[in-house]
Amino acid sequence: MAEQLKGKAVADFMKTELIKRVEALKTGGITPKLGIIRVGARPDDLFYEKGIRKTCSSLGLDFQVFPYPEDISQVALERAVREVGNNNDINGLLMFAPLPKNLDEQKIRSLIPLEKDVDCMNLGSAGKVFADDVTGFPPCTPTACLDLLKFYDIPLQGKKVIVLGRSLIVGKPVAMLLLREHATVTICHSRTVELAAVCAEADILVAAVGRARMVDAAYVKSGQTIIDVGINEDPDHPGTYCGDVDFASVDPIVAKITPVPGGVGSVTTVVLCKQTVIACEMQNGLRQS
Ligand code: NDP
Repeated sequence: MAEQLKGKAVADFMKTELIKRVEALKTGGITPKLGIIRVGARPDDLFYEKGIRKTCSSLGLDFQVFPYPEDISQVALERAVREVGNNNDINGLLMFAPLPKNLDEQKIRSLIPLEKDVDCMNLGSAGKVFADDVTGFPPCTPTACLDLLKFYDIPLQGKKVIVLGRSLIVGKPVAMLLLREHATVTICHSRTVELAAVCAEADILVAAVGRARMVDAAYVKSGQTIIDVGINEDPDHPGTYCGDVDFASVDPIVAKITPVPGGVGSVTTVVLCKQTVIACEMQNGLRQS
């Protein structure tokens, strides 16, 4: 059986350190604040919002939701995002996506100020991540993957890492963050030939494919570390969710694996708060990056 790399231990460790940093800021009269822009009231957005509110409150961060109706116009939302972006009380800003189809989402994302863009919504932040400019915030999920790997002392330098998935929110940025750590990174996708065999060559396999339990025994070998980023509705148990990895099938083979639930997802919201605290420290001249 593989060692399970549980997210809770990572999240608890990060929270202990963050509480101290928030207390230090509060002693200086500063309370970090996360703002959330929500258009409409999709159940998954409301669920995520509830989790973020809880984590912020456990860490002592202020939190404010800016809700807008689903039928808001492009002009009105642009004005609103500019206003929230210019609000000096807000240090970190997240916008739930996707936006309703009639809105130009790229345009709206581009209005989020880079120094407050704590989940890499603006392409300018993505550019910084790709250029190794550490003043740009990477998206929270890839950052959570790296925080988890580091917490469990998984060596990255010189290691062969296969990233399965090439989205702008997970696959590509996690590959860039792994490169920063001097891993040798291969990105795979739906057109990769002999995908299972390529994945089986990895020391570390990061699965971010969005297909329930796709990665099975054929994709892995002994000694590997598997990071399962997937959050998919479980086709066998509707109403619950599962990862991109077929846990039962790979567990007897690999060395280490993140469970779903209880793996990467448990760290993501804490990363969002951590990046808000970093943003607050930078905006108050207390750190460079
Ligand atoms: P996307 O759908 O945007 O991207 C999926 C990627 O997987 C694409 O690059 C696609 O390739 C590739 N892919 C799809 N099917 C196959 C296949 N059969 N063979 C090989 N490659 C394939 O998903 P996201 O990156 O947004 O999310 C990935 C997973 O991570 C999802 O399960 C999502 O729910 C989860 N997630 C988890 C988060 C967390 O906090 N833990 C946060 C964000 C996402 P191509 O480009 O060729 O189409």
